[in-house]
Amino acid sequence: MTLVAATSVEPNIARLRGFVTSFAELLAGTRDEGEILEAGSALLARLVACDDWLPDAFARPSPDRYQQYLLHCDSRERFSVVSFVWGPGQGTPIHDHRVWGLVGVLRGAERVEHFRRSHDGALVQVGPTADLYECEVEAISPRKGDIHRVANGLAYGPSISIHVYGGNIGAVERATYELDGSAKQFISGYANTVVPNLWDRSSGA
Ligand code: FE
Repeated sequence: MTLVAATSVEPNIARLRGFVTSFAELLAGTRDEGEILEAGSALLARLVACDDWLPDAFARPSPDRYQQYLLHCDSRERFSVVSFVWGPGQGTPIHDHRVWGLVGVLRGAERVEHFRRSHDGALVQVGPTADLYECEVEAISPRKGDIHRVANGLAYGPSISIHVYGGNIGAVERATYELDGSAKQFISGYANTVVPNLWDRSSGA
């Protein structure tokens, strides 16, 4: 009898390590938000163009709600990288960020609606509801208006998007909103208690 070992493909974690290293270098070179968003978008587009690096533990949907898994937080909390895993029908309330952000879709699609305050304080939608698809990247800036609502763009399966923020987003005090403009403070935290190990180079990766 021949025993055949089950083959499992290890995630290419070096790709994520390269991304966070490049992002830290970018932030060391500029504090200009426009430059960060432009160059950061290109880095994120490259990361989400290859779906071989995200460990399964950070790609699992929950039947209860969308999952927000911290993948990496810069030691000076200049930026954080998060995987959002959306089950069918799952999405956020309307919320803001207070820091710049980048959104890139790794699997499936993400539905985004942008809002702004009208003269009476209520929220009105800005532009059409838009779907972001695999490999696409969008930037958000509090200076241009960063109130939005995000949901799974697929009706029948999970989607995963990779977000980068200009701070430790799970610790930022920010707000959710009702359409009448009323706000509620919140700090999101994260769904996970351990993060991927980017730094074991023993395999030569
Ligand atoms: Fe958001």
